[in-house]
Amino acid sequence: MTERTAELAVVSNKSFQASQAVNLHHYDISSALQTTLEFGELISIFCNKIQAIIHHNSVEYLNTEFNLEFKRGVIGRHSCNYALQIEDQQLGELKLTRSQRFSKTDLETLESLLCCLIYPLRNATLFHQALQKAYTDTLTQTHNRAAFNDMLSREIMRASRGGQQLSLIFIDIDHFKLINDEHGHDCGDFALTSVASTVKDSVRGSDVVFRYGGEEFVVLLSDTNQEEAAIIAERIRSNIESRILAYGIAVLNLSASLGVSSLKADDDMESLVKRADSAMYKAKQTGRNRVCLN
Ligand code: GH3
Ligand code: MG
Ligand code: MG
Repeated sequence: MTERTAELAVVSNKSFQASQAVNLHHYDISSALQTTLEFGELISIFCNKIQAIIHHNSVEYLNTEFNLEFKRGVIGRHSCNYALQIEDQQLGELKLTRSQRFSKTDLETLESLLCCLIYPLRNATLFHQALQKAYTDTLTQTHNRAAFNDMLSREIMRASRGGQQLSLIFIDIDHFKLINDEHGHDCGDFALTSVASTVKDSVRGSDVVFRYGGEEFVVLLSDTNQEEAAIIAERIRSNIESRILAYGIAVLNLSASLGVSSLKADDDMESLVKRADSAMYKAKQTGRNRVCLN
């Protein structure tokens, strides 16, 4: 049997010593920026690293596409602004300020240092997009079950540590199977999307809506006790009931059964979810189109 040699392209046979890199600043910054894929952290590392080279008092980073904002420091009189982009891809805007003017040399140095930031920033964008996709339910554009599990475990830890309140609302559409049976699956999908947007419109900006399963949704309410959650649940119920949906010639009158639970001292994720779920079943058993607490 003939031995095959590894198919490696030899680009250079000289050794590369990192410490002999053309510009140590660039090497140091680039290495540090490889340690994270999170926007805020990237900008913060970058600014810490360049502080000794380009002194600045404040930094502001804005990425409207991803709704990201990072601000640090006290704004100075003079500023320099950069719209960061790679080819056609916008990567947000970075603004540094300070009390002294930025000289032409400062700006040239800064522009050369920004080269270190631009690709890590693009990677962070791709990571953010992938994460968003993995955590989004494609039909209803709410967060999905995986996102729920991650966020709930984080929120329970946060609430337990800080002694804050936390509530869940489970929502199950009543007799949903009939919609599919009578008007078809596409109409069922339309009804699900409509209910999801009704739920989103009924809650506060800080409440997060997830699709828990088929025709079930759950709302996670941070810093909210059971009484407050019950008021929001009732608003959701009433909005679902009063919104009449038209699909072609079909008119859909939907309702939902809702269960509310709030975090107790000895709760974990499983027990909190179970209590909201059994409250929702109680709502089903006692006539549907109602809110029950547990
Ligand atoms: P109940 O009032 O007891 O909750 O009755 P129900 O009919 O809502 O509940 P059941 O669990 O019997 O039926 C749920 C239906 O939801 C069955 C399933 O086909 C449908 N469903 C689940 N996911 C989807 C989806 O993504 N699209 C559509 N169109 N239907 C779905
Ligand atoms: Mg169900
Ligand atoms: Mg149902």
